Amino acid sequence: MKVLAISDQIIDRLYSTSVRETYPDVSLVLSCGDLPYEYLEFLVSIYNVPLLYVPGNHDPDYTLNDSRARAHGCENIDGRSLFMKKLFFAGLGGSIEYQPGTPNQYTQLGMYLRVYRMLPSLIWKKIRSGQRLDVLLTHSPPYGIHDDDDPAHEGLRAINLLMRVMRPRHLLHGHTIFYRQNLQDHVTNSNGTKIINIYPFRVMNLE
Ligand SMILES: [Zn+2]
Repeated sequence: MKVLAISDQIIDRLYSTSVRETYPDVSLVLSCGDLPYEYLEFLVSIYNVPLLYVPGNHDPDYTLNDSRARAHGCENIDGRSLFMKKLFFAGLGGSIEYQPGTPNQYTQLGMYLRVYRMLPSLIWKKIRSGQRLDVLLTHSPPYGIHDDDDPAHEGLRAINLLMRVMRPRHLLHGHTIFYRQNLQDHVTNSNGTKIINIYPFRVMNLE
């Protein structure tokens, strides 16, 4: 299954009516956040396939009763999990808190609490389906992988915990750009999770 994954930055050749000719046969769009919802809505309508997303630290507070805080026709999977096209997805939006009181920013402890709330349902779904988590979709990278030293780009330790418990096949994240030439945009950890920085986009095959 061909997947278009996007994050953080609008790409002109995706935000184009010829995107289906440029990148054909896309069956699913995944967004790691920090993108205008008009861009997500454009892609979901032009491809006419499901789009799953998590919010980033620059996205609005979707818990408010404001229709502009949601991407219409798309599925926000922040703090949730679901099966889509036979694959098992979980989502965790937001970044480390660097401006207290801003939506979609969490302290390390705050994000641990969110992960603890998700785990019972995730574990139950894994047992019931007998299926490994296929994709963990996050905005932030985990701590120590693809993250940075500055306060806004420190990775979230709760994502490392979620990876240890659920052993997803893929972790897709955004939020960090690579400034340094020697960094790889994907690494595989000891549990076999392929950690991929999507920023700004990637076309990939998921089986
Ligand atoms: Zn971000």
